[in-house]
Amino acid sequence: MHANDLHRSSRKPTGPDAMLFEIQRLSTEDGPGIRTTVFFKGCSLACAWCHNPESISARPQLHWLASRCIGCGTCCTVCPESALDLTAEGIVIDRGRCTLCGECAAECPSTAMEIIGTRWGLDDLVREVLKDRAYFARSNGGVTASGGEPLLQAPFLSAFLKALKQEGVHTAVDTCGCFPAAALADVLPHTDLVLYDLKEIDPERHRRFTGRSNEQILDNLRTIGTRMESGVSPQELWIRTPVIPDATATAASIVGIGQWIGAHLPGLVARWELCAFNNLCQDKYQRLDRDWPYKHQPLLTQDTMERLADAARHSGVDPDTVHWSGNTRMPAAKQHGRTDPSPQMSTA
Ligand code: SF4
Ligand code: SF4
Repeated sequence: MHANDLHRSSRKPTGPDAMLFEIQRLSTEDGPGIRTTVFFKGCSLACAWCHNPESISARPQLHWLASRCIGCGTCCTVCPESALDLTAEGIVIDRGRCTLCGECAAECPSTAMEIIGTRWGLDDLVREVLKDRAYFARSNGGVTASGGEPLLQAPFLSAFLKALKQEGVHTAVDTCGCFPAAALADVLPHTDLVLYDLKEIDPERHRRFTGRSNEQILDNLRTIGTRMESGVSPQELWIRTPVIPDATATAASIVGIGQWIGAHLPGLVARWELCAFNNLCQDKYQRLDRDWPYKHQPLLTQDTMERLADAARHSGVDPDTVHWSGNTRMPAAKQHGRTDPSPQMSTA
């Protein structure tokens, strides 16, 4: 769902509500089958490589998309705060003046202005995602709550998942693991599958890459494992590791994670997925007037991903659970003479 549609379609919620930044339909990467993924806004980590920078702040944000702008100046005219300026470089936003009233987004003829972040009421959101239930039924799919960090809005998330379970829908939660432990008791009873990010085991390296130590993340993951050993929900646990150049893309980092999984979650992880770095999010940083340290970083090679996956398979986990996914580039030697340098998409 387009962000402006999300913004306009939301009626003022009367009951419990949540701050979301996107509802993505027909997703095949956030759990089994065809899924509708609901992205909660606000995150407790700030990973240097974050692919969804609009997810970090818990508040709405104004985006300007240069590629859509036709330079008509309507937004500058309608802004009641005189917060916009049309320059030779495009629209400049004075974020100190902007009150996020949404007038510019409502009047822009080319949807170049967007308010990212909308409050959704529980009934409206359940109704919205259930429009896709025919896809869920045919593909053994369902609904995934992602973010941002969805467990930072645990009371709403719990009620949302509970309502979906009452409708017979498979539920998944995609989490970075950094949230107060009490949230688990609210959310897990209504969760079929947890997709859990484990980015790094060394706490100091984790702090350097994400802004926070991983102690809470590992504690919460142990709690999930203990529940599963007791036969209570979730029924299934997937681990996901972002493989990032100059950060987590080392055999030592991957083996450290595998050793921890082998020691603390024996037999409990159905899938450990290594997710290759991608550089498709650069324009999202531009829309937020932010620089991205990875903007010139090329994709990893397929050889690198296969080497790291092999290290993972020998780290103490069930080797059959290890997979890798994402776009890769051809190594320089193999690119010689090749006219199509497009990245290779793999799921192995
Ligand atoms: S959201 Fe409102 S205040 Fe902010 S730039 Fe747009 S029109 Fe101006
Ligand atoms: S109203 Fe939209 S298209 Fe016109 S200048 Fe503003 S952002 Fe660009």
